[in-house]
Amino acid sequence: MTRLGQTARIRLARAGALAGLALSGIVAAFATIAPAGDAEVRQSAIAEPLAIRPEESVLPSSGELIREERFQRGDTLAGLLARLEMDPDEARALARHQGMRLLRPGTALTATFDASGTLHSLDFLGSRDTLVVFRRSASGFSLSEDRAQLETRVAMKSSVIRSSLFAAADAAGIPDAVATQVADMFGGDIDFHRDLRKGDRFAVVYETHTFQGLTVRSGRVLAAEFVNQGRVYRAVWYGTADANDRASGGYYAPDGKNLRKAFLRSPLEFSRVSSAFGMRRHPILQSWRAHQGVDYAAPTGTRVRAVADSVVEFVGRQGGYGNVVVLRHQGQYSTLYGHLSGFTRGLRKGARVAQGETIAFVGQTGWATGPHLHYEFKIAGQARNPLAVALPAALPVPAAEMPRFAGQVQPLVARLDLIGNSQVALLE
Ligand SMILES: [Zn+2]
Repeated sequence: MTRLGQTARIRLARAGALAGLALSGIVAAFATIAPAGDAEVRQSAIAEPLAIRPEESVLPSSGELIREERFQRGDTLAGLLARLEMDPDEARALARHQGMRLLRPGTALTATFDASGTLHSLDFLGSRDTLVVFRRSASGFSLSEDRAQLETRVAMKSSVIRSSLFAAADAAGIPDAVATQVADMFGGDIDFHRDLRKGDRFAVVYETHTFQGLTVRSGRVLAAEFVNQGRVYRAVWYGTADANDRASGGYYAPDGKNLRKAFLRSPLEFSRVSSAFGMRRHPILQSWRAHQGVDYAAPTGTRVRAVADSVVEFVGRQGGYGNVVVLRHQGQYSTLYGHLSGFTRGLRKGARVAQGETIAFVGQTGWATGPHLHYEFKIAGQARNPLAVALPAALPVPAAEMPRFAGQVQPLVARLDLIGNSQVALLE
């Protein structure tokens, strides 16, 4: 194994081929291998960089050497720069540089050295979507930051649930952020903490933002299908621009019904941590009638969200409930959240809270044998089973907009059909 380790990528480049920026030089080199626009070919070209072990590399006298390293989660700047085999004094100076604060985990750095092994420049995609470049100057390193052109591509993936939504997402190479969006968009119909079953499957069409062929992050989910216990749910993003050209939009069923409900199915955020727990151990099920509420087992600290737009009616301690929040919603509805470990800062009686906003955190205060959320749903003061009540939906696409909606949605539905079919083929 080389000193650089497995993730290190090293390339030789002819001097002059790199007109200024190291990264654009690399892409130029790949552009000759794969025609621009052919995403698949280009991505695989980048995934398999020329592997030359440093001790074997022989530098042409006019050559430049480029090294790439990824800033891993938990990495230190010193460790990262050391892997790039930089002069230790220069590495220390760079690590202290203000511009390094723009580096975020997961980002690749490219260092260009001249033939004598002196660092010539260092660049990476910064946290503000800018190309950050350090260049050697008379007085150390000068910093420049330019707007980077991100490309948006559309990815289509599907998976089957065997243990959890996130495990299924991992198996298909779907980012966590996309899996969470899928859970959120169907959150009015499916309680992802209680309703998921082995064999459920989903397909998703989503945007990915790339910079010179490398995925920087995932973007918005454009369409998704979720088959839960045999029932098929579909959602498509429908965007509109208001008079001030501000973009807005939401998720709708392909027939124009709004996916957003006045109430969320579950008061718990759906995250990798809470889902892993929930799938192993089902929520504490007690007779609802005797108990007047639903209990969700979840790790202490899991975020509790307001299930609907609301005004805070009570925050504080109350006997067996321990720390408790009561929210009042439109109409005759109210909800109660008990055994909390703590509240969101600033939450007080009379405050307005939007649907999905975090109000508190799971705990085991009051009469609780383990960390869980006790959740009550009341209509006109009467406790009702939140898992059984029919919840009012938000407004559908207005009739006048349906032709535009249909035009925007049709290609997305076609894509879902396409993935759905290939999925069936795989299962058989
Ligand atoms: Zn309870």
